Formats: sequence, structure tokens, C-alpha cells
Amino acid sequence: MTLIPAEPEFWGLPSWPAVGDDSYQRNSEYLRVKEAFTEIMIARVAEVIPGIEQHIVWREAATPLTQHRYTRSTNGTPYGLEMSITQFGPFRPGVRTEISGLFLCGASTAWGPAVESAMLSGMHAAGAACRRDLDGEIRAGKVLARLGASGDPEGWEPLAAAKQLAVRTAR
Ligand SMILES: Cc1cc2nc3c(=O)[nH]c(=O)nc-3n(C[C@H](O)[C@H](O)[C@H](O)COP(=O)(O)OP(=O)(O)OC[C@H]3O[C@@H](n4cnc5c(N)ncnc54)[C@H](O)[C@@H]3O)c2cc1C
Repeated sequence: MTLIPAEPEFWGLPSWPAVGDDSYQRNSEYLRVKEAFTEIMIARVAEVIPGIEQHIVWREAATPLTQHRYTRSTNGTPYGLEMSITQFGPFRPGVRTEISGLFLCGASTAWGPAVESAMLSGMHAAGAACRRDLDGEIRAGKVLARLGASGDPEGWEPLAAAKQLAVRTAR
């Protein structure tokens, strides 16, 4: 990942696309800028892993426009609410709201962005909804779900499945 301008104009677009409008993908200026950044990212990686360019079998880049399209996040941000001093940590929303029965979780809550934090906020939201201290229970060793108990087909391996999907999409 890298810091990058989010403004649509930077990507050759007059404004943020409306929900469901994916025509930006065919905009030649958008494609040119995206390709340029993709090359820069690969070149940066090659500085620490020389020769990696010759070993890439699949490449795809996501931009703020991609993020905006798929997650509908404001300005295509991947990390929820702006991480400013006044919106950091305890200054972000918690799991409880003023509306009875409505709980919050995700990157914009007090646990902050990233997969682990989003997961933690989900656990706390579930705990608040169930009126249980799930965090304390898990820390005390309670196992709430067992691997393989989700009903996935036997031998199903998520990374291998994702790779097969990528190969199919490329064809
Ligand atoms: C390119 C990239 C790389 C990242 N790499 C890492 C990493 O290596 N490690 C890490 O820990 N974190 C990483 N992150 C951050 C991490 O992915 C996010 O912080 C995390 O997924 C946020 O989870 P979330 O559930 O809050 O939001 P999301 O995962 O964004 O889920 C929100 C969901 O709500 C849906 N939605 C939005 N609006 C509506 C609506 N009106 N109605 C119905 N559904 C709606 C969206 O489609 C989406 O499915 C990365 C993020 C990006 C973009």
C-alpha cells in the first residue's frame, strides 16, 4: 500500500462515480495513472527483492476508486473514520449506541482499522448484544468455535481457492 491522492480529478474523472457506475474502469486516463502507480509499487518492491518483476504471475492494483466502488467508503478510504487526534482510539465510536439494540463494529470504531481490530470490535459488539464478557471468557481459555466446524467442504483451503479464482478471472 502507498499514500495516494483520492480526488477523482487526479484519476482523470470529473467526480466520484455514482453507486453501481463502474465506467471509470474504462477511462483511459484512469487506466494510465493506475498502471503508472502499479509500476512504481513493483519497482519499490524490487528494491528489496531484486528481480521480482520476472516472477510476477498475477498483478492487480486497487485505487481509492476501487475501494469506493466495493466498500462505498467515503473518498475510498481503507481505514474508516479519519485517524485525526480527535477521532483516535477512545474518541472513535464504541460498540453501543443511543438506539437500543443497535451495535457498531468495524474500522471506524474505537479498536481502529485493520482486520484484527475490526474482528475485535465485532467480538465486543457481540458481547454487548449478548450481555456477555466475551473478551474475558476467551482470555480465560473458553473456545467458542472450532476450526472445521463451519461446514466448509473437507480439505477446503481458502488461499488455494482464492488463487484458483484469480486464474479463472485472468482467462
Ligand atoms: C488494499 C488494502 C489492504 C489492506 N491490508 C491490510 C492488511 O494487510 N492487514 C490488515 O489488518 N488490514 C488491512 N487492510 C485494512 C482492512 O482490510 C480494513 O480495516 C478492514 O477490512 C475493515 O473492516 P470493516 O468490516 O470495518 O469494513 P469493510 O471490510 O470495508 O466492510 C464493510 C462492508 O459494508 C458494505 N457496505 C458498505 N455500504 C453498504 C450499504 N449501504 N449497504 C450494505 N452494505 C454496505 C461494504 O460493501 C463492505 O462489504 C487493508 C485494506 C485495504 C483496502
